[in-house]
Parts: sequence; structure tokens; C-alpha cells
Amino acid sequence: MPDEAPVMLKNPYGEGFTWLRGNLHTHTTRSDGARSPEAVIADYEGRKYDFLSISDHDVLVDPADYQAGTSMTLIPGVEITAKGPHILHVNVTARVAPDPDRQRVLDEAARQPESFTVLNHPNWQTHYNHFPQELMERLTGSLGVEVYNGVIDRLEGSSLASDRWDRLLSIGKMAWGFGHDDSHDVQDVEIAWNVVQSSSRSAADIVAGLKAGRFYASTGVGIQSIRVHDRTIVVVTSNAQRIRFISRWGVIRSTVEDQAAEYTLPKRPSDALALQYIRVECYGAGGRMAWAQPLWITAGS
Ligand SMILES: [Zn+2]
Ligand SMILES: [Zn+2]
Repeated sequence: MPDEAPVMLKNPYGEGFTWLRGNLHTHTTRSDGARSPEAVIADYEGRKYDFLSISDHDVLVDPADYQAGTSMTLIPGVEITAKGPHILHVNVTARVAPDPDRQRVLDEAARQPESFTVLNHPNWQTHYNHFPQELMERLTGSLGVEVYNGVIDRLEGSSLASDRWDRLLSIGKMAWGFGHDDSHDVQDVEIAWNVVQSSSRSAADIVAGLKAGRFYASTGVGIQSIRVHDRTIVVVTSNAQRIRFISRWGVIRSTVEDQAAEYTLPKRPSDALALQYIRVECYGAGGRMAWAQPLWITAGS
């Protein structure tokens, strides 16, 4: 067998950060939510969230009006809603006008370089196709996709969209997976969130961590660390009962019934490269889960 170039696992997670928990998708009476921004902020604060984005439909609620009343970091957001599939716009400085051409929306959002966009609840509605896969594959410039959207627990369709996520990753599209409540009323609060490795509690540092993929989505399982040693991924959680390592097209490569687990890539580089990525899913009591970001497998050392 000829010598093959070694492979590398690109780990988005780092060392020396603090884990902060937050929800980037919530509604208030400024659009179709049932509660005022003050009530929503007080609710999340009481549940010990570290950051929150109010993302009303096509309305920018200015965090400056509310930041003095909370210890959470408020991140300005809008859910771009009208005229097409919904797109979350996070850390915005100005509202982007809805346009039926969603690529124009993403291009306009990209003109605010501190902001980022997420493709929302792909499996919502009776056709389970709020965000058509062909459109998601064609669009460029978004940071990721909602892998879990809490409000859909009580609406038509599927809250979970890891199927859509694997399809995007498998054709080589970089996409981070987000977990959000999309809360419209109190029963939607604290269903799904993101936990990010951040250097500080500032919005800028939290957003930098999210952009770099130094976060995981969760509905109740906590991840303590994801580290790479050579070709091995080592995952430590606080309360998982089962950990799965998943590669291209959703293939489960390994299942470990434990709170911590490791997975080693195939020894032969071409076999390892064929997996394209490894992402980690953690399962805990009561159906709780966590979704870590993909570690890309590339040639190099
Ligand atoms: Zn929506
Ligand atoms: Zn929403």
C-alpha cells in the first residue's frame, strides 16, 4: 500500500474558556409572543441563563432598552420572517428587510459583519418542509441550522432536524447546529439552548464563540469537554447515559453506554477521510440530549 498523507481532526472546541448558556430565539409582545420583553427577560434570568436574544418577527427590539434590568447578556436579534422560510439574524445592528429571495436576505445580513444567520426550524409544518432542503443547500453565507426548535414540540412537524443537518454537512457545507426555544409563551421556555465556550460575558465574546463553533446545543445533557488526541476524540459529559459518534450521511460509527466516551478514526487515512466529519450526540434521562458541533476530517497533520 502506498504511503498516504496523515489526517487531521479539526476540533472547534478550545481550552481556557467559560461555558455560558443561552437562547437566541424568543418572541415577545413586540411581535406574536404572549409576554412582554420584561417578563421574558425575568423568566430566563430566573432560570440562570447567561445570555438571551429577543428575536421578534421582523422587529428589532433594542437590548439597550432592557440591559440595565438584567445580569444576562442581551444580544440584539430579529427573526426575518415575511416572504419566505424564517432566518434568525443574531447580533444585528439594523433590521434586514424581508425579501422573497432568501439569498438576498443573507447577503444583506452579511453586510453587518458582527452578525450571523441561522436557518430556522427546517422540519416545521404538516409537510415537515418549512425550509426546503434544496434551498438550504443552495443558500450561502449562513452560520448554521436549528437542530432543535422547542416550540415545535406543540406544533406540527418535527422539533428535531439533525437529518437536515447531516445532509448539509455530508455535501460539504459547513453548518453549526443550534438549539433554541423559539418561545412564544411560558410553556416554551427552557426546552433547548446553546452552551458556548466564551472568554467573557460580553456579547462580542459570546458571538465569537458561536461563530467559531465552540458551542453545543442541548435539551438537558451537559458536555464538559471535547478534546482531540491524534486520531481520537474524547468526550466527557456531566449526565449522559449514551454517547454516539456520527459521520457522513448520519452513519453511527460507535455507541457507548457511559457518561464519557472516546472514538478513534480508522487507521488508514483514506478510510478516515471518507467519514468526512464526526459529530457527537449525547443522550440522557428523560429523552434529554446534547449535539456537539462536527469535527471535520482533513488531510494534513
Ligand atoms: Zn420561525
Ligand atoms: Zn420564532
